[in-house]
Amino acid sequence: MSTSVIPAAPIATPVVTAEVRTVALLLGTAILALIVYYFIGVDEGALSVFGKSMYVHEFFHDGRHFLGFPCH
Ligand SMILES: [Zn+2]
Repeated sequence: MSTSVIPAAPIATPVVTAEVRTVALLLGTAILALIVYYFIGVDEGALSVFGKSMYVHEFFHDGRHFLGFPCH
């Protein structure tokens, strides 16, 4: 009687490795930080994302002064 040996399935390598996950986390954090930086420090008047308005500027106004961004 012969016994057949079933070969073990190859171990699947994860598609998303730890390095890719780390780079994605760092990239996401950097993009989020730049968006926050833009809205707190830059968005104003003609440069505003939401048209020529001061809504975002006024919303972040106290934070803008607290963090020392130039304002008025
Ligand atoms: Zn101000």
